[in-house]
Amino acid sequence: MEHPERIVVIGAGQAGGWVAKTLRDEGFEGRIDLVGDESFLPYERPPLSKAVLTGEAADETTLVFDAATFESLKVEWHGGVRATSIDRETRTVELDQGEPLRYDRLVLATGSRVRRLGLPGADHPRVRYLRDLADSAAIRECLAPERRLVVVGGGWIGLEVAASARKLGLEVIVLEAGDRLCARALPPELSAFLAGQHRARGVDVRLGVAIESFRSTTPDRVQVVMAAGETLDADLVVVGIGVVPDTRLAEAAGLEVDNGVVTDAVGRTGDPFIFACGDVTSHHNPFLDRRVRLESWANAQNQAIAAARAALGLESTYEDVPWFWSDQYDLNVQMLGVPSGWREPVMRGDMSDNAFTAFYLDGDRLDAVVAVNNARDIKVARRLMERRIPVDAARLADPATKLQALLKG
Ligand code: FAD
Ligand code: NAP
Repeated sequence: MEHPERIVVIGAGQAGGWVAKTLRDEGFEGRIDLVGDESFLPYERPPLSKAVLTGEAADETTLVFDAATFESLKVEWHGGVRATSIDRETRTVELDQGEPLRYDRLVLATGSRVRRLGLPGADHPRVRYLRDLADSAAIRECLAPERRLVVVGGGWIGLEVAASARKLGLEVIVLEAGDRLCARALPPELSAFLAGQHRARGVDVRLGVAIESFRSTTPDRVQVVMAAGETLDADLVVVGIGVVPDTRLAEAAGLEVDNGVVTDAVGRTGDPFIFACGDVTSHHNPFLDRRVRLESWANAQNQAIAAARAALGLESTYEDVPWFWSDQYDLNVQMLGVPSGWREPVMRGDMSDNAFTAFYLDGDRLDAVVAVNNARDIKVARRLMERRIPVDAARLADPATKLQALLKG
């Protein structure tokens, strides 16, 4: 294949930003068009439910690269512009404004969009979602002490927003449809631990709750009507019921889509001129030996770096053990792996100390690890997992055995 001279990147989030940066880091001197329908330069979303939401950090602190670094990349920046279609025959991308863009390689980094509640009254202005900086600012404006916040969805968004709102002195009620919190990502004992932590800090956590509708009381207040008949008045409702990969362009262009744009580990699609990375991909993960879609900061960065290298025809690998984290109150939760089911954990430390690590084994190999306020264990566990070192459950559980000692096998 001829060496690319024009590379178009659609989506200017964390993954799109890292693609542009990596292309330049690898010496690409051609034209890079970076198309993003948000007008802000590429930024990271994690602080949007944490320090940016509480007002402790300014919007600018979320930038993937500061403005000077971004400038030095010399990209054609199409901020506030939406790509509307891809023509794979002529290798062009249509935009909602401006001339179409021709590409030698195209990288899709269109990320995720929020799943919405299709309930009556859910379009009330005080029923909000949290995905971008504007959402975070709009929610922050409503967060004042003694107001009442109802959170719909006890996943990551819900729990982080609940923690931030409690910090600011709001009354908080979390309504989760399932029978435990963060069920998609966490084992049952961690769900129970988090429920206990939130309740201990005054959050009213309700599980197995179905919502029927929302009623407008005043423009500033909304009433949540539950299927069981109870109503809850709120100053604000924040909905965090998951996301869907934004595969619309890929699908319309006839690329293979199966819960995400289907790619290999480094983001190659079935079209040799098109690559994808970040939240939008359903990619092969060599560590797990199966296809996954990961909604995480680490994947957005590291798969983007791998995809940019692949787009330049360079050797590229991406075989990270999946890693996620969440900060709620003074709790730092970190996870490694995406197990297909949860077994009984081997515990190191005590949950009641708010500092412990739960190890999940498949035979004598680590399948997943969840640590609370134990980042150091995660570092060692990552190496154990990467190197697939067999581990002994008794030694794992024994606080007298240094975790590092297990690296020797
Ligand atoms: P996105 O961030 O979704 O970016 C995609 C961009 O493409 C968007 O700006 C979108 O508007 C744009 N776009 C889409 N279609 C088009 C188009 N046709 N034309 C132009 N532009 C388009 N992960 C963690 O690991 N830890 C955390 O603590 C954590 N906290 C989070 C907190 C919040 C509030 C949120 C929302 C996410 C959090 N995440 C966290 C997840 C992490 O932020 C995402 O996995 C990451 O943002 C994915 O990056 P991405 O670039 O692939 O996609
Ligand atoms: P999520 O983690 O998938 O959680 C959504 C939760 O809402 C699930 O527990 C889900 O239960 C529940 N739910 C679904 N429909 C519901 C309904 N009608 N009523 C009440 N509850 C309902 O998604 P999220 O919290 O919305 O987060 C969105 C994205 O941001 C994800 O990509 C997430 O990874 C990312 N994010 C990550 C972090 C982090 O890693 N620290 C922090 C914030 C955001 P079921 O599973 O039973 O459907």
